[in-house]
Amino acid sequence: MENSSPDRDKSNHKDVLRQLKSAFEKLPHDIFLYLFTSKEQESVFSQATRQVIQSFQEISSRIKYEEHDLSHELAAKWKVEISPTLLMAPDRYSIRWTGAPIGEEGRTFVESLILIGLGKSNLSDQSLKIVKKINSPRKIKVFVSPTCPYCPFQAVNAIKAAIEIPKLVSLEIIDIQCHPELAEKYNAYSVPLTFSNDVLIAQGAQSEELFIASLYTLEEQTVFIPESDAERIETELVIVGGGPAGLTAGIYGARSGLKSVVVEKGALGGQVAMTPVVENYPGFTQVGGKSLVDIMVSHALQYVQIFQGEEVIDITPGQPMEIITSRRTFVSKAVLLATGATYRKLDVPGESRLAGRGVSYCSTCDGPLFKGKKAVMVGGGNSAVTEALHLSHMGVHVTLIHRRDALRAQDHLVGNLKENKIPILWNTEIKEIRGKERVEALLLFNNRTGETSTFQTSGVFVAIGYEPAVKLAKKIGVALTPEGYIRHDGRHRTNIPGVYSAGDVEGGYKQIVTAAAQGSEAAMTIFEDLIHPYWRNM
Ligand code: NAP
Repeated sequence: MENSSPDRDKSNHKDVLRQLKSAFEKLPHDIFLYLFTSKEQESVFSQATRQVIQSFQEISSRIKYEEHDLSHELAAKWKVEISPTLLMAPDRYSIRWTGAPIGEEGRTFVESLILIGLGKSNLSDQSLKIVKKINSPRKIKVFVSPTCPYCPFQAVNAIKAAIEIPKLVSLEIIDIQCHPELAEKYNAYSVPLTFSNDVLIAQGAQSEELFIASLYTLEEQTVFIPESDAERIETELVIVGGGPAGLTAGIYGARSGLKSVVVEKGALGGQVAMTPVVENYPGFTQVGGKSLVDIMVSHALQYVQIFQGEEVIDITPGQPMEIITSRRTFVSKAVLLATGATYRKLDVPGESRLAGRGVSYCSTCDGPLFKGKKAVMVGGGNSAVTEALHLSHMGVHVTLIHRRDALRAQDHLVGNLKENKIPILWNTEIKEIRGKERVEALLLFNNRTGETSTFQTSGVFVAIGYEPAVKLAKKIGVALTPEGYIRHDGRHRTNIPGVYSAGDVEGGYKQIVTAAAQGSEAAMTIFEDLIHPYWRNM
C-alpha cells in the first residue's frame, strides 16, 4: 500500500509547485487575466476565482491580473455582464469563463494558462487539417462543473480551438453550479455539454479530433477518420463504397491478409445512415441507423483505412489496376464495387424545382422541420412505411400516398401504421408538386376513379425505391442485368477480371444483413482468386 503522510504530501506539493514554476518561466508570452465581479453579487465563486488567480501569480510573474467591477468601462468594452467572469488574454483571444476554475476545472485552468503563455494551440496534425477548413465564426459554449472529471478534456479542446483560430472561434466556459439559470436555459443537465452557434455539438467529452470535426460540421461526430495526403497508394483491394457491404468486405479482406482500403464519396453507411430505426439487424432489437453505421465504421477502422469524401472517377483494369479518385491514385490487385443504390425520383413537374424546399428524400434528416405541419410520404414499401411512422412519431401530420390498393411493406410495419392511425390515400398518383417558393400543394390523380384533386401540404417525402449506382461500372465496361444491376457469377465476380461487386448494386433483397453477407462473400472470393488467379487460365 502507498505510504501517505503529511510530510510526504508537503514534499509532493513542493514538487508540483517547482514543476509549475519552471513550466511558466519558459513561456514566451505574459498571460493577462481580467476578473469582473460585482460587490452586490459577491459569491463564493468570485472569492474562489480571485484566490486561485492570486496563488498562480505567486508562482509566476508571467501572470498579470486585474480585477474590475461590472460597472467598469472594460466590462462594457468586452460585453461582460455576469459576475464572476474571467477573461483570459482578451487582447489576443476570446476566452471567457463564467464561473470559478476550481475542483476538476483547476486542470483546465492550468492547461489554458500554459497554452495562452505559449501562444500555441498544440492541436494534433489531424485536428489542424480540419480546423483549417473552418471559414465562418464559431461561438462555443462548454457547460462544465467543478465535480466533473471529464469536463476538463472538453474545455481544453475548446480552448485549443479558440487559440488556433482566434478570429473565428470564441469560447465561453460556463460553470453550471455557479450559473444554474444558464444551465436551465440550455437544458444542460449533464456535463460536459458543448454548443457551437447555439447548436448542440457534443454530449460528453470527446477526443480532440472528434471535437474539432464536430465544431467544423456543427454536428456531433462520433467517429473520426484520419485524412491522408498520399498521392499514390499501393494496396491489394480497393473497395468502392462505404455502406454495410463495403465495410464488411473491408473487415473480411483485411482479416484474410489483404491490404484493403475503402473509398466513399459521400456519407458512410449509405442508406442505413438515413434510416431512422433498424429493427431487423441481428443482435439489435432496435438501433438507430446512424448508430449502427458508427459501430460498423469503428469496427472497420480497426482493419482498413477509409478515404471519405473521395470519388472514384476511373478504373484502368489490368494486373495491377489503377483506381483514380478525385484525390489520388490507388494501385491495386482487385477492386470491389459496393456502390449501392440511390433513391428513385417521382419524375413529376415541380419535384426538382422544390427539392430542399419541401421535397425530401430523407425523413431522418428533414423530418424535424415539419413538426406540427402536414406532409405526405409517397410509396408502399418498407422504406415508405418505416419513414411515415418515424415522421408521425416526430409530430408531423403525415399521410401516406400509394399508387396501388395494397402495400408491399412487411405485415408488422403495416400493423404499426394502422395502430398509429396514419391516413392512407390508396390508388393515388402524384401528378404535380405545386408551390412558389416552397411546397404548397399536390395535384393528385386517383387511378381507380379517374378523378383529379389538389391536396394542401408543406412537405413531400419520397420513398419509392432505389436505382443502382452503376455509373462507374458502366464506364469501365462491367456487364449489367436487364434491370440495370451489376451482373455477377454468383461469387461476386463481374465480367472484368479483378473487378467484383457486392451489396445493393447487385439487386436482390437489399437488406443490411444481406449486403453485409455479400460483402464478406466477395472479400473471400477475392482472397481466393488472388492466390489462384482464375484469369491466368483465360
Ligand atoms: P421498394 O420495396 O422497391 O418499394 C418501392 C415502393 O414505391 C413500392 O410500393 C412501389 O409501388 C412504389 N413506387 C415505385 N415507383 C413509384 C413511382 N414512380 N411512383 C409512386 N410509387 C412508386 O423500395 P423500398 O421500400 O425503398 O425498399 C427497398 C429495399 O430495402 C426493399 O428490399 C426493402 O425490403 C428494404 N428495406 C427494408 C427495411 C426493413 O426491413 N426495415 C426498411 C427499408 C427498406 P408498387 O408497390 O406499386 O410497386
